[in-house]
Amino acid sequence: MKYRGNAYRLLESYDVKVGDRIVVKTRDNEYRGILMPRYELADDLHLVIKLRNGYNVGISVDEILSILLEERAREKDREEVVIGGREKKEKEEERDGSVSVEHNATRLAMISTGGTIASRIDYRTGGVRAALTAEELYSIVPELSSIAAIDAEVLMQEYSENLTPMHWSIIAERVGEKIYEGYDGIVIAHGTDTMHYTSSALSFALQNLPVPVVLVGAQRSSDRPSSDAAANLIGASLFAANADASGVFIVMHNGKSDDRIAVHIGTRVRKNHTSSRDAFKSIDTEPIALVDVDSSRIDMMLELNVRRRRDKARRPIVRTRFNEHVALIKFYPGLDPSMIEHLISKGYRGLVLEGTGLGHVSKGCFNAIRDAIDSNMLVCMTSQCIWGRLRMTVYETGRDLLSMGVVPLDMLPETALVKVMWVLANSSSMDEAKSMLLSNMAMEFK
Ligand code: ASP
Repeated sequence: MKYRGNAYRLLESYDVKVGDRIVVKTRDNEYRGILMPRYELADDLHLVIKLRNGYNVGISVDEILSILLEERAREKDREEVVIGGREKKEKEEERDGSVSVEHNATRLAMISTGGTIASRIDYRTGGVRAALTAEELYSIVPELSSIAAIDAEVLMQEYSENLTPMHWSIIAERVGEKIYEGYDGIVIAHGTDTMHYTSSALSFALQNLPVPVVLVGAQRSSDRPSSDAAANLIGASLFAANADASGVFIVMHNGKSDDRIAVHIGTRVRKNHTSSRDAFKSIDTEPIALVDVDSSRIDMMLELNVRRRRDKARRPIVRTRFNEHVALIKFYPGLDPSMIEHLISKGYRGLVLEGTGLGHVSKGCFNAIRDAIDSNMLVCMTSQCIWGRLRMTVYETGRDLLSMGVVPLDMLPETALVKVMWVLANSSSMDEAKSMLLSNMAMEFK
């Protein structure tokens, strides 16, 4: 964990050590922050500084003109930075890989499911371990200890593209248990690719929540200077610990600014960019809140009704089952209707169509859709346009589909898929399923 080679010699010549607050000058820049430990597998050509906004920057040793020692770390602080010393000193218990840390009145449970944020966050391994213990968290993001006492555990280690509805159930059950244990908020570290499916799943599986349940990820791994992992984690923890809100949310970077983090309603958000840090956007609504990680300020952007405010006395409704026999099909010119017939023959119970425009598919699909409905399949319509409302009454095509019994779901297609899966597993008749589908349960309707 110690620096070596060129980096070590440079640090020694300025007599600075890991944990010290320093100012590093290069030709073009000045960096002010805490000297972090080097990655175990990293080269000896860079120093890593944690800036005040939570970001880590790697600075090439060759470009450094001078280092100024601003404040020497106390031995205790040094230990915190190096090995998560708070845990060493104040650890209360250690069982099943979960560690309780600090005597802070606000308690957060942090559950790691995998993805970039959880797999590359460890300085000591240089980002190859898929783990997120409290110890590792505090050593990488020391700011977390001032936000709340965090109990962290690794529930699973999967990239989110590998998750299935079975995993949603496992996550929902664990979150339900944590809520019954009385935590003030739950933070779930998750891969970004399918995070909005999981946030929808948790929104239906966990209703009437007393506290916020927040999913957080990182678009860029924490071994990269531009990583959003630390800032997103701080933003997520600030919101989960302090916001007067309950329900399921996604917390990720907002815009290009380094300090602003957006909080999105779990059923109204999607990933819109493959790599940009602000890939997640609320669709046809505002983010519910913006969090400034620098000042710890939370600005609520939407008014929440009283049922969506924090109330620790509220009893959650936990229904974690999903029916996996539901498909999401994007309509495209020339779609072969036998794909729908195939689903009928495979015993599928639900079909969500991502139609064109206001909610249409070609006439060529009508017979197959009629067959599906006749065989007791729930057939629903959403739009493949990302923004705007579903309106199936405007054109004849939409009206025909409605009169066949297609259910219009004016929500994101991914949210609709998850809702149909959940409704089919939690209803006992077609009528009940339809009325559940059409009622707004988790702010999913546009
Ligand atoms: N493919 C990764 C995942 O979704 C990407 C990420 O973590 O951001 O798990």
